[in-house]
Formats: sequence, structure tokens, C-alpha cells
Amino acid sequence: MQPEVKVKKPVRSKSGVTPLTVVLAPRRCNHGTCIYCPGGDFVPQSYTDKSPAVMRALALNFDVRKQVCSRLDALIKMGHPTEKIELIIIGGTFLQYPSDYQYDYIKGCFDVLNGVESATLEEAQRINETAEHRIVAMCIENRPDNCSEDEIKRMREFGATRVEIGVQILDDDIYKKIARGHKVRDVIEASQRLKDAGFKMGYHIMPGLPYSDIKKDIEKFKLVFEDESFRPDQLKIYPCQIVDDSPLAKIYKRINYRMYTDEEIKKVLFEMMELVPDYCRIMRVMREIPKEKMVGAAGSTSIRKEVEEELRRRHEHVKEIRMREIGFNSIGLKTDTIMKTIEYNSSGGKEFFLEVVNSDDVLFGLLRLRFPKETFIDEIKDCALVRELHVYGQALNLGEKGKDSQHTGLGKLLMSEAEKIARDAGYKKIAVISGVGVREYYRRLGYEIEGTYMVKELNQV
Ligand code: SF4
Repeated sequence: MQPEVKVKKPVRSKSGVTPLTVVLAPRRCNHGTCIYCPGGDFVPQSYTDKSPAVMRALALNFDVRKQVCSRLDALIKMGHPTEKIELIIIGGTFLQYPSDYQYDYIKGCFDVLNGVESATLEEAQRINETAEHRIVAMCIENRPDNCSEDEIKRMREFGATRVEIGVQILDDDIYKKIARGHKVRDVIEASQRLKDAGFKMGYHIMPGLPYSDIKKDIEKFKLVFEDESFRPDQLKIYPCQIVDDSPLAKIYKRINYRMYTDEEIKKVLFEMMELVPDYCRIMRVMREIPKEKMVGAAGSTSIRKEVEEELRRRHEHVKEIRMREIGFNSIGLKTDTIMKTIEYNSSGGKEFFLEVVNSDDVLFGLLRLRFPKETFIDEIKDCALVRELHVYGQALNLGEKGKDSQHTGLGKLLMSEAEKIARDAGYKKIAVISGVGVREYYRRLGYEIEGTYMVKELNQV
């Protein structure tokens, strides 16, 4: 018998956890269809039937239990560690699905990873705290106008820790013309509520929309970081493309629209990457839409790599997180690390971005601490909030000893610095938005569960 060949793609688990993506069953968004959205009836609205994740889900009739089972199996076969999973839910506006569907969907994910069917979601989460495959983070894609206080509380019930909202461009006039169905005000409110509930939050940005141009894209992008009402933790930059079956595919000639060329996309990206501050991570650039689903030329999916290589060649110091992560800078790595704290105002609160970096600014770990503007969740009233603790490097399983930064005590160091900052500012309690599968870790640091958060009293020293 041939030995099993492990074809591990290191990038997948390079940032410390292993992502597992599940796709929602098709359903139309309540507000209608954004002009660039493929909007299919048989596949989730924002995807095409040629996207790999969607094809896999389609073959399983979008059954979430089967999807988790098959992805877990594939990740194990590829040699990825599967003890620390980030569950990513994609496909539509999850919070608009019927409530029973939402609860059953999330419970199904926990049940499969636990290897046992629980009676309730709460029970499934309790089991997952010590299960072999733990959900240490959960991401939900959402719209800015689906982030009410109740909706945010529901996302916490599910165990979500990260929310990505479609922002595209901060311009009400363009929102109206492209049928987004929300306003800039919704982005501002969603950003504040999500941060004040401790979520890590990201924006999807779309350069090259109809009725915009390069100058306007950059001008509006500057606002994302200059105006403290926004300042997300992460970005996905998806230049607008004309996808088959989208409303745009039907009207682009009439409105005299053309997509950006690869050169134009690169120009926009160069400028955007230079504007992104230290505390923000560019998660992805370009959507992977298969060529046969595009009208006209598809933008090259290697643009990000080309832009990053060019920036490195020019020795430009790009501050965004991903380019500085240890996982992407392991050659000739110096270990002369220090901890830095960047303070900034954001959505009415105050943020402390703690990072452990070496003298080449390579990032080993980070923590986001927030003094919120106002909290609407009882269990975190009067708490300072830890919105993210992340130690970088290749993902390790829970018992493995680390060489670089995972499992070497950096997390503990960052937490104790955050506690000190909060204590010095007069906070009596600190809360962490913990993924269900990380609760045990925080218990060992003296935290106790309060609602869906891990909370610790800060004794004055
Ligand atoms: S909100 Fe997203 S899924 Fe809904 S129509 Fe717009 S792009 Fe498509």
C-alpha cells in the first residue's frame, strides 16, 4: 500500500489557527441585490457555482453537518493541525436567515466537531471547550444594517468572535446607485456596537465600483483610517468585477462602465497598502471568481503577491499586519523582541494595540484592548475589553511545544500587560471575547465565564 501523501498548504494554518469554511444555503438578501452581486437562486447570493467552497457545499446540498465533516477530514488528510479551528461562515447575510436555521446551523458545526449530538447549543459549546477539535474563533460575514444590539447579542450566543461587514466605499450617493440598501451611518453604528461588544471587525472594500474612480476610491479609503468612526481591524479588498448574472452584467454597457485593468488595480493597491496602519491586517485581495463566470477579462488573482514583492523590492516599510507576521518572515529571523503599544481613538472608545515585534518589525503576537464607549451587554458593563489575542506562527496542536511564538508564553505576557493598562486606568474588571474553544486557556489565567465572555476581577496592587 502507498503511504498517505500529505499535501499541506502552509499558508492555511500559518497565522496560528486552521480555518474551516462552511457555506450557507442559497437565500436572497432582504434588501434586494447589490449591483455587482451574482445573486444566484441555486447558490448563495454573493458566490458563483464555480467557486470551490460553493461547489463542495452544493455537492452536499448545503448540509452544514456534512460540510464540516468533509472539510475536517480533508484538513486532517492535508496534515493541518485541527485542534484549533476558526469557523468561517460565508455565502449570504446569515443574520437574515430564519432564527431556527441560524441556531441549528451553528449547533450542527459544534456537534460534528464534538463527535456527539447535544440537546442544546449551550451544551454543544460546553462540550467543545475541551473537545479534540475546538472552535477557537468564529467569523460571520454580515451587512452593516444587520448589527443591531439584539443581532450582536445573538452572534455572541453563537460564539462568534469576528464580524466582517460589507462597506465597499464610504459614500451614500454611490450606495444608492449600486443598491446597497444601507448608508454610511449604518457602517458607523455597526463599527461602534461591534467594537463595544468586543468583536474583532473587518471591512470589505470594493475599489472600481460604478460611479467611482481611482481618485475617489483613494479619497474615501483615506477616511477609513483618518476618521475615528471607522478604523477596522482588518480589510478585504475586492476590486469590482462584472460577474455573469449580476445586475451590473446587464447594464454595464448602458451606464458606460468598465472594470479597472490589472495595472489600475495595482496602482490602487499600492496606495491603499501604504495607508493601512500597524493595527490593521489586509486579509485578502481579489475575489476568486472563476474566469468563465466573468464578463470581460478577469482581474489577476496574483496581484497581491506582485504588489507585495514590489514593495519588498523597494524596501518600502508597509505597516499592515500580514506582511509583518512571523509566518511570512521566518528566514533570518531575529529574536530580539520588544513589546510596543499603539494607542488610538476608535468609534468613541480608546484602543490599545499591543504588539510583540523584533528589531526588523516582524510580528510575533498582538493584543487589542479597548476601553469601550458604551456597552449594551450586561456581563461586560464597566469592563475593559480584550478584543483579540493572537500569537503568530504555524498553527500547533494544543499540547505541542512551540519554537517560534505559539505556545511560548507570549499570550500570557500580552494578557498581563493588558490587565496592567486596564488596572492603571481604574478598571476593576477586564473581559475577553473568547472563542468557545479558548475558555480553558483563560480559566488558567484566572478568568471566569460570565454570559459568553471570560471575565477577571482586577485587584488593585
Ligand atoms: S449584501 Fe452581499 S449577498 Fe446581499 S446582495 Fe449585496 S453583495 Fe449580494
